[in-house]
Amino acid sequence: LDSSTPFKLMIITSLETFILHVPVTRNHISDSTHSITHWGMPGVRIFTDEGFTGYGFTGTHAHLASDRLITDCISNCYAELLIGQEASDISLLWERLAYYPPLQWVGRAGITKMALAAVDIALWDIKSKASNEPLWKTLGGSEKNKVEAYNTDGGWLNFSTQMLVDDVLRLTEVDGYKSIKMKVGKPDHSEDLQRVEAVRNAVGSGVRIMTDANGRWRMPEALSVASKLKDYDVTWIEEPLWHDDVRGHKDFADAIETPVALGEMLYSLAHFEEFISSQAVHYVQPDATRLGGITETLEVSNVAYEANLPVTPHAGDMAQTQIHLSISHPGIELLEFIPWIKDCFIEPLEIRSGYFDFPKNSGAGTTLTEEAMSKYGKKVS
Ligand code: MG
Repeated sequence: LDSSTPFKLMIITSLETFILHVPVTRNHISDSTHSITHWGMPGVRIFTDEGFTGYGFTGTHAHLASDRLITDCISNCYAELLIGQEASDISLLWERLAYYPPLQWVGRAGITKMALAAVDIALWDIKSKASNEPLWKTLGGSEKNKVEAYNTDGGWLNFSTQMLVDDVLRLTEVDGYKSIKMKVGKPDHSEDLQRVEAVRNAVGSGVRIMTDANGRWRMPEALSVASKLKDYDVTWIEEPLWHDDVRGHKDFADAIETPVALGEMLYSLAHFEEFISSQAVHYVQPDATRLGGITETLEVSNVAYEANLPVTPHAGDMAQTQIHLSISHPGIELLEFIPWIKDCFIEPLEIRSGYFDFPKNSGAGTTLTEEAMSKYGKKVS
């Protein structure tokens, strides 16, 4: 091998933002706090002088005005910090964007972080395309590290109990999932427990059931409903309380037997460290599209792993990118999957008998088809 071969630079020449609104599978779905008809994908294509193009995106409510705040942040603020720079300097560019003084003044969470996520994912996409390998390889992953998928798309709160049971049975008996998630947080609390009982009775003891309240409850109702979940062998209760309440989650975790999962609404490593060091969480759920991309999700995963907590990422990217970091990280064995956007990509994710296939194409799994871009694309401004 000739070690004197000069390293080839890849300079960022331009970028283009996009917004896709992709329909959910059954016209509309609800949890205890959100009701949506589409999944929003504000994102960016980053072009380099070496011909590699990186695709990155975040996941939203599909509300055009707020999606445009994210694409505006990329094209009006981040672009000037990126163009002319070396694309593979990901850590350096991450710091440059995350701590850019005018932006960190107006936001260290939400819009600026989701815009950063899209950029970071696009940069990792470029890096692994240039290495001609899937991102999980670039991140040091192995084909020995299989990742289980759990499916959330059968468990929505607007489904009748019969539809919920039918859907969960289709996922487990026909599609082969061994783990599913269902929403709780009905106005009538007894209905939540009846639905969990119906699902447990239908699937038997061999399937993992996770529950998710999406931050809906106050402490008394959280304790009252969640203390009974142990009777149905529920793996975790997700987001029982409002997202920022560290002390409340710690008290809740101490009071009930079912483990606590959370993280999808946390936008920084520091926020995760606070929940983890306070023992307010058991299953840690970082989301690469809400943290600053792959870069910060790996940092969160390392902190959780060191604290002996399982990492089970939230699928704001519908797992398309996070499968790569999941394969590469020893703390991740289980990853959420929702199928709404998978057919928008050149290489859609596939799940067999409850496990993800290993992506084979080079890149981060984010390259969109031209058809998806034109069919679901919205005007960015
Ligand atoms: Mg959730």
